[in-house]
Amino acid sequence: MARCDALIVGGGPAGSTCARQLCRAGLDVLVIDKQEFPRDKVCAGWITPAAVASLELDLDEYASERVLQPIRGFRIGTIGGPATTVRYEAAASFGIRRCEFDHYLLQRSGARLALGEPVRSIARMDGAWLVNNRIRTPLVIGAGGHFCPVARMLSAAGDKQQAIVVAQETEFALGDGERGDCGIEQDAAQLYFCPDLKGYGWCVAKAGYLNVGLGREDSHRLSEHVAQFRAWLRERGGAPRDLAERFNGHAYMLYPESQRRQYDDGVLLIGDAAGLAYPRSGEGIRPAVESALLAAQVVRAAAGNYSRVSLALYAARLEQRFGKRIAGRQAAAWLPPPLKRFLAARLLAMPWFARNVVIDRWFLHSGQPPMLPGAA
Ligand SMILES: Cc1cc2nc3c(=O)[nH]c(=O)nc-3n(C[C@H](O)[C@H](O)[C@H](O)COP(=O)(O)OP(=O)(O)OC[C@H]3O[C@@H](n4cnc5c(N)ncnc54)[C@H](O)[C@@H]3O)c2cc1C
Repeated sequence: MARCDALIVGGGPAGSTCARQLCRAGLDVLVIDKQEFPRDKVCAGWITPAAVASLELDLDEYASERVLQPIRGFRIGTIGGPATTVRYEAAASFGIRRCEFDHYLLQRSGARLALGEPVRSIARMDGAWLVNNRIRTPLVIGAGGHFCPVARMLSAAGDKQQAIVVAQETEFALGDGERGDCGIEQDAAQLYFCPDLKGYGWCVAKAGYLNVGLGREDSHRLSEHVAQFRAWLRERGGAPRDLAERFNGHAYMLYPESQRRQYDDGVLLIGDAAGLAYPRSGEGIRPAVESALLAAQVVRAAAGNYSRVSLALYAARLEQRFGKRIAGRQAAAWLPPPLKRFLAARLLAMPWFARNVVIDRWFLHSGQPPMLPGAA
């Protein structure tokens, strides 16, 4: 029988960040992941400066062996409509490749690793957890993403009533001259909103790679929306060639609408497992990292008492950071669709709106300073 002070299920950004903090606090931490690393994760691979700060990422060290693309500009508009470009003096975000990024963070965490092993069973026995009939631990932290087995165990009723984002992407190496052929600016991300504002498509160049995808808050006919976006990009020369027919898909939940239980006796959920991604941008890495910092702080304060009452502090800290949870849709559903389309196309192509509202507020959350590990 293997034993550890804390078992973290999932070695993505949430799991590796929490593991690092708990190791620093002197706990014996085991991270279990169903995949061998390096592994890929369906994602645009865009991280904000706040996520960089919370991760205490040394950009020079990171970039010495991996792709790190500073993003200094954004082309913003609607699919089929007008667009505008906004530029920043310094890097306003970074493009990374998840196969490199997640591997780096997990190796850096200092935790023991059990990779290539899916969590198949979690049972409560004598006040502790028995996982896969071979690991005994007083604390399980669910960081397994949207389909996390720990989240499934906590939300017995399922997620049927909750708003789920569905997204698809493809990432590929650009051949010689391909970038120039379609006018892709290396340091500018392109964001094109769906006319009904229920999602957006993107093109993000990172060194020799291009990531193209589209995500929507409405799961109906996603592949049709992706196909239309692909066709539109091709028509206007926005992609270097015919993009693959099949994109890779994944789902996740946005805060504050997600209603998953976040904790219980001896268990906490962090990152996508808890449904914490930002609305509008769909950014999930920053909240995954921040929730991991908060969880580690609460675990340290609990000093071995992982009762439900003791871990309730975690839910309070999440609410302090991300606001109260709200059941049901809160988007501008009251606007008649034609008016929404009319306003969206015009507003999004206005430089002032694109910069101050879309990028600074919706995507960079510039009013919310990063959470630093020491201060979490
Ligand atoms: C198409 C798309 C584009 C996106 N683009 C961005 C973006 O550009 N920027 C951004 O910030 N966010 C983006 N997101 C969201 C972001 O990818 C997630 O919010 C983020 O990965 C959450 O991190 P996490 O650590 O919680 O979970 P994950 O990164 O999903 O990690 C979960 C880990 O758990 C493991 N696991 C799952 N099940 C089991 C099991 N049964 N047993 C053991 N291990 C298991 C998985 O193998 C995985 O390694 C995007 C999402 C999608 C779908």
